[in-house]
Amino acid sequence: MTATAHRPAAGSAMLDVAGLNKTYTSAAGDTEAIRDLTFEIKAGEMVCIVGPSGAGKTTLLRCIAGLLPPTGGDVTLEGQQVSGPPKGMAVVFQEYARSLFPWLTVTQNVELPLKEKGTAKADRRRLVNEALDAVGLADVPNSYPWQLSGGMQQRVAIARAVAYEPHILLMDEPFAAVDAQTRADLEDLVRDLWDRLGLTLLFVTHDIDESIYLGQRVLVLSGRPTVILEDVQVNLPNERDQLTTRSDPEFARLRAHVYDLVQKAKRGYRPEDATAGAAPR
Ligand code: ADP
Ligand code: MG
Repeated sequence: MTATAHRPAAGSAMLDVAGLNKTYTSAAGDTEAIRDLTFEIKAGEMVCIVGPSGAGKTTLLRCIAGLLPPTGGDVTLEGQQVSGPPKGMAVVFQEYARSLFPWLTVTQNVELPLKEKGTAKADRRRLVNEALDAVGLADVPNSYPWQLSGGMQQRVAIARAVAYEPHILLMDEPFAAVDAQTRADLEDLVRDLWDRLGLTLLFVTHDIDESIYLGQRVLVLSGRPTVILEDVQVNLPNERDQLTTRSDPEFARLRAHVYDLVQKAKRGYRPEDATAGAAPR
């Protein structure tokens, strides 16, 4: 695909999250979901976020995507402060069934954001075809989402995101609702797209193995109000496959380490507990 046009050079600043806070306010009281959370991602990186359920992962992604206003702090994308859905970003959510329009064909679903963006017809056609080809759906352009399996529907959502030619792609537990074999295939598809298209990817999952298999870095979140417990470097070769990578001793070491961190997070362990010299609970 020709999706690399105007994309920032690999290694330059892409996303900067600084001192982010998000507190939900309702009649029932306040819920502080995110507290003073800071990290950055460089162009071309593949970064995973893991953390306990209810930690604030979706809240974080929504703040980054400009879908939810933060209570404090800043999100900066390619040097611009995010205050609404940014142009260079696409998002894939867990619920593919709800993210696709049932009355539109596969092609029409993938094409819609390009129409909204004002892409010329000939370019739209090319981008849609390339994206469907890239996700292995070139043979079902005229099917409707409900005629497809869950895994195929999620491929449509991925094709739609990729056709948009985003600089950064956010994914929120996109494979949580598909079976294990499909999930492995989709993981490899995402690695492949990342590799070929030079995307920057931020991938949220609650699956520790998935985070290590996919990521160059894994950001482990604390429980709510969430902060970063640790930014774990994944020093596995970029060439990955389900069998070799997952049986690498380094994979096992990382899994044990991240598992331990997530267990601590579930028990309420926070970074300040370490700096205070307290023994991890
Ligand atoms: P995760 O994605 O890690 O499971 P969420 O970001 O969905 O976590 O939720 C983080 C916390 O914020 C949870 O305690 C959740 O109940 C609360 N929360 C999420 N959305 C809202 C909302 N719209 N109003 C109030 N509280 C919310
Ligand atoms: Mg969530």
